[in-house]
Amino acid sequence: MRYVCSGSVDWRAISVDRALRESHSLLGGRCANPASMQIGLTYWSSLRRNGADGRAGLAIVCVKRAGGGEARMELTRKLHGLLMLAASTALWLPAPAAAATPRCAAGAGGKSDIALDATRPLKARVGPPSEHVLATYRGAGAIDVAPHTLTDGERADVEAALERLPALHRRSLEAHLRRLSFVETDAGLGSALTSLVETCDGSIQFDITLRSSLLHDGLSAFLTRKEQGLFVPDQSGYSVHLDAGDAPALLYILLHEATHVVDRSGAIALDTADLRKYVWSEDGRALAPPIDESIVSRIRWRGAPPMAIGETPRLYEELTASPFVSLYGATAASEDIAELFAWQYMAAHEHVELKIEVRDQAGALISSFRPLETAAVRQRLTRVAQILARD
Ligand SMILES: [Zn+2]
Repeated sequence: MRYVCSGSVDWRAISVDRALRESHSLLGGRCANPASMQIGLTYWSSLRRNGADGRAGLAIVCVKRAGGGEARMELTRKLHGLLMLAASTALWLPAPAAAATPRCAAGAGGKSDIALDATRPLKARVGPPSEHVLATYRGAGAIDVAPHTLTDGERADVEAALERLPALHRRSLEAHLRRLSFVETDAGLGSALTSLVETCDGSIQFDITLRSSLLHDGLSAFLTRKEQGLFVPDQSGYSVHLDAGDAPALLYILLHEATHVVDRSGAIALDTADLRKYVWSEDGRALAPPIDESIVSRIRWRGAPPMAIGETPRLYEELTASPFVSLYGATAASEDIAELFAWQYMAAHEHVELKIEVRDQAGALISSFRPLETAAVRQRLTRVAQILARD
């Protein structure tokens, strides 16, 4: 199972290759063995239970048969839709089929092209992505994806951001980060990908890969762009703007991605279980009542269709009545945790404030929200501060 995270879509999911294989097996009737049919059937019925549109899977099969060119673009769109749904459904999937090609990385001194050496400083782990990471981008629909070579200035910014991470995050990255890479890409997996490396020795290793344009992105512009992807225009003429001042995007992104590494490596398992209580169901897959009834649960990142932008005043009203620091936090329990840590640190140590504004066509303010300042969020951020202060 691969752990995939991106700026626009974030999900705990089966690998792209496997999603293709299973859908193809199920719908194309070419199952190599009954077990893979069973996995496909279970996966399919789960998607249906969660309100999926069955055409997403069919499109994958059709496009796979056609292959190449424009058909691949369609595949990407459909595949994203499919995998977004997997966010809340994929954890119960059985282990990958034994037939899957082993692709594992050895630890220090191994034969892998990139070996994790926990004694090397974090800045020495910044380098080109592995072939496997590039293949993952291509498999998700990126046509032109290439390693980005950092300029001296960019490298200095990355090293400075790594040094500003909390001690807990630095320690987790030192133990588990194999490679931090930047790619030039037009599409595919969004802004960031934290992927679990399949290791031969059972050690827990991650690669973090970021879109190179993030190096020069402001946080406000980055967040606004990402959020706007949730909505479609309507007669209201409204627009949504996220204001995080002049902060650059890079530190926030690294905080968010590094929190996935902290979380997934089990470093704060009891704390995160605590933070998830009353917000997520016991197994961490579904939203707990009453949040599951909120309009916040029906955002695109959770597999719903895009929302009419005229709904945003109500949406953010309900967001600020919820325990979530951001809409992205409502995507999955792991995203909730990553967002809480990233924003706690940005607010407390970088003095960044977050404001969400809905404006009309003439630019007049319709409503304004400060999600970091609600009682429920403050309580959770205090808990995060205690966890970070412990180290
Ligand atoms: Zn994430």
